[in-house]
Amino acid sequence: MELKKIGVLSIQGSVVEHVQILRRIGGVEASKVYLPEDLEGLDGLIIPGGESTTIGKLAVIYDLLEPIKSFAKTKPVLGTCAGMVLMAAELHQDRQDQPLLGVMDIVVERNAFGRQVNSFETELDFNGLENGLSVPFHAVFIRAPKIVRIGSNVRVLARLPDGTAVAAIENKLMVTSFHPELTSDLRIHRYFVNLAG
Ligand code: GLN
Repeated sequence: MELKKIGVLSIQGSVVEHVQILRRIGGVEASKVYLPEDLEGLDGLIIPGGESTTIGKLAVIYDLLEPIKSFAKTKPVLGTCAGMVLMAAELHQDRQDQPLLGVMDIVVERNAFGRQVNSFETELDFNGLENGLSVPFHAVFIRAPKIVRIGSNVRVLARLPDGTAVAAIENKLMVTSFHPELTSDLRIHRYFVNLAG
């Protein structure tokens, strides 16, 4: 079986955690993406959680924004937390001056659950995950964003009990409000790797 090559955008945030999870999944070669040329030959890309303003500004400085946008036209991309903010078409707030990739048809509100002290963990039913209906996914939310509007081609994969969408997919572009890289559950990464190739 050919190895699937998955890169992790390595500007800031939970890079190492994603790489470690990917290395635990069989058939995957994980690498770090620092510069546009690191995207070459990849089957998929993960944009980690962290601080979306920092990741966005540095992505502009390293000329990564346009290459990632082109990559996302044909290849799977997973954005977790800040990564989800970067992938959104639009932000739901007055100040919109941070750089975005804008590749997915969702509107996202940053820090929508409150401040750091309002971070929380919860069990989620996740649509389409292996054993998703019998084994909930333990989700860690840290100053997390909310999806406040979804486009017609976007499918919601998980919701909080109040109906808030916290994971979604549009073709091969996938986002989670929470941090699947901070638990030992490999299922979301496996789901994503299966989209590649
Ligand atoms: N609040 C951060 C942002 O908007 C995201 C937090 C996270 O990735 N844990 O960029």
